[in-house]
Amino acid sequence: MLQAESIFKSFGSHDVLKGVSLKVARGEVVTLIGASGSGKSTFLRCMNLLETPKDGFIDICGHRFSFAAAQRPPKDNQLAALRRDVGMVFQHFNLFPHMTVLANVMEGPVQARGTPVAEAKELAMDLLAKVGLSEKADAHPARLSGGQKQRVAIARALAMKPQVMLFDEPTSALDPELVGEVLNVIRSLAAEGMTMVLVTHEMAFAADVSSRVGFMNDGVMAEIGAPGDILRHPSNERLKAFLNRFH
Ligand code: ATP
Ligand code: MG
Repeated sequence: MLQAESIFKSFGSHDVLKGVSLKVARGEVVTLIGASGSGKSTFLRCMNLLETPKDGFIDICGHRFSFAAAQRPPKDNQLAALRRDVGMVFQHFNLFPHMTVLANVMEGPVQARGTPVAEAKELAMDLLAKVGLSEKADAHPARLSGGQKQRVAIARALAMKPQVMLFDEPTSALDPELVGEVLNVIRSLAAEGMTMVLVTHEMAFAADVSSRVGFMNDGVMAEIGAPGDILRHPSNERLKAFLNRFH
């Protein structure tokens, strides 16, 4: 479903990703943890080509890209095709402020997929029901809580009917009492078999929802394995030190 092979990325002289590989099977939920600056967001952004790797190979839902020096950069239509299949939700919600909740969720299908408006509306209402926000369809984002905005952002990503969802710290900008409602939406997606890669600092949630947990350290995937092995019986010293901060 998703394969990243030996991904390298630098910003100027700063080598941020130093050969990161990850293979995710259909229906798997892989959680990435690691200290600030270890390259988690950069890696996630490389997977839908918001960043262009310097070297490596990506196959995501059959969209294949090779980044060796001699390769030509990906074309816009290839990027658009990739992003139709890959939903991404960020720490900050990036909703369109001038549009209602319903219009935000309808925008992608109508603009990028050419879905007829009536059909897009029905889909959007179904998704808003799924994230528990049917009654907010006509509200503008400014009137919503952070947790509600993030649930709209998830509905908006799902409206594109992605095959894979990428989440980058979807709850870390939220007040603690709003975290649970967003995690519950993600948990229900996992239960439905959605393939997901998510970066989170919510360790209990990671233990609960993940097929595997990957620990990134200084631009490499230092450890990856079953949640119990990684979170409860870590052997890697850096991972132990990282996890100790959460106790
Ligand atoms: P956090 O937990 O704080 O979100 P992270 O693991 O997601 O951290 P990244 O955001 O991937 O870390 O950043 C890795 C390194 O790359 C950091 O040192 C960061 O400063 C640098 N970096 C990220 N994006 C850019 C950019 N656009 N330009 C320059 N440097 C960048
Ligand atoms: Mg980050």
